[in-house]
Amino acid sequence: MKLFFAGQWRDTDATVEVTNPFDDSVIDEVPKASAADVDQALETLVNGAKAMRAMTAYRRAEILSKAADLMRQRRDEFAETISREEGKPLSEAKTEASRSIETMTLSAEEAKRITGETVPMDAASNGSGRMGFTIRVPCGVVAAITPFNFPLNLVVHKVGPALAAGNAILVKPASDTPLSALKLIEVLLEAGVPDEAMACLVGPGSELGEAICTDERVRKISFTGSDEVGAKICKMAGIKKVTMELGGNAPVIVMDDADVDAVAAAIARGGYANAGQTCISAQRIYTSRKIHGDAIDALKSQVAQLKVGDQLQPETKVGPLVRTHDAERVESWIDDAIAAGAQKILGGQRDGSIYQPTILDQVTADMRVSCDELFGPAVVTQAVDGIDEAIELATDTRYGLAAGIFTQNIAHALRFAREVDCGVLNINGTSTYRADLMPYGGLKESGLGKEGPKYTVREMTEEKMVVFHP
Ligand code: NAD
Repeated sequence: MKLFFAGQWRDTDATVEVTNPFDDSVIDEVPKASAADVDQALETLVNGAKAMRAMTAYRRAEILSKAADLMRQRRDEFAETISREEGKPLSEAKTEASRSIETMTLSAEEAKRITGETVPMDAASNGSGRMGFTIRVPCGVVAAITPFNFPLNLVVHKVGPALAAGNAILVKPASDTPLSALKLIEVLLEAGVPDEAMACLVGPGSELGEAICTDERVRKISFTGSDEVGAKICKMAGIKKVTMELGGNAPVIVMDDADVDAVAAAIARGGYANAGQTCISAQRIYTSRKIHGDAIDALKSQVAQLKVGDQLQPETKVGPLVRTHDAERVESWIDDAIAAGAQKILGGQRDGSIYQPTILDQVTADMRVSCDELFGPAVVTQAVDGIDEAIELATDTRYGLAAGIFTQNIAHALRFAREVDCGVLNINGTSTYRADLMPYGGLKESGLGKEGPKYTVREMTEEKMVVFHP
């Protein structure tokens, strides 16, 4: 595929290979962009932002709704592209493609709901006789920098609301997984987005990232990725609006009144989907000591059944990690934990980019498998003596994205919701749940701001106050 910028599909002087993480076979080559291409793209996008600002909300909704229809027609193609370039099982890629269509549809709906509020001016000591209200206007040029792990839906979560709100958008997808994003641009152009209002550039994050984030023509940066890169972007951005959707090491608490088999089945999905490469993957499991042994047995029996291998085979439940060196990193963190006293219950072997689904018990909070984001097909478990200890351990981390608790005790559930510092709290569900309309975003080092089309539209508009004087 080619890149789209400055109003056209273009080649550049160099290319980036896109490979299948399972066997390293080359799927496609895409042109590699440079900082000069970013400059050219932004020049055109500034005009695109004017065109978008002049477009009615009715028309923006119509275009996005048509884009959703076109995506529906190409759903299988999108699913296969996601699976091939990212490595997730085809069944999960189909779910991602369907969710992306829903995200686009929600964005189309939100285009029609951009409103301000009236402000009761005469309630102020100096407001007598005045009338006031707010209006929301687009930011202008928005930059979307996206990660590899949901190469379509996380791009739609930025592009859909950005266009709904009347912005122009520059997308920089992860270099490992650019094809889904480029196909999305095809769809949006066909649906009627003006050529000058969109660009998609692929290339080294550091080089393109600096060119994008330091350029004053970019008025808003929406980033999803690691906290390390997020921190760099915040430094480069200066006084620009930013949204940061960053990492996590999600805790799941299992109290002794939970249904152990149901919980094990839920964790076997939530800890191993996309080979654990999900920011809300269930990672740290704290089980009440009374049921700890039973919970481990049930989990072991569920996880052992997960079929591992080629993501394109229909029965596969756990595919490769996106790169072999990610599998090597997971292996080294798990080996270190075992050397430091953790007990291996299952798994622990690597073959190239495949890492076997793993369970570690007797993990302590200082091990990297617990205190950092593991991003691999493994969960770590620890027995706890009641809700106080469970909440304390769950919260004792620099992250705060999502968490889960399994309990029938309403008081425990509500304490969990109040006291665990995460952006999304699931009661009787694992951390690994997201519906695309939810307000979604992390606390602490897991991020700044919210996504979900309704909330992203707010983040991608500026609110102005208008006052009428007597
Ligand atoms: P990453 O941070 O390595 O890369 C993300 C994007 O940033 C890529 O497009 C990359 O090219 C770009 N980038 C790299 N260096 C840059 C720089 N110096 N300046 C600007 N851009 C730069 O993340 P990844 O490995 O692709 O994805 C995994 C991470 O994403 C995990 O930490 C995961 O938790 C996080 N994530 C968060 C959410 C969320 O909603 N909170 C969702 C999915 C993934």
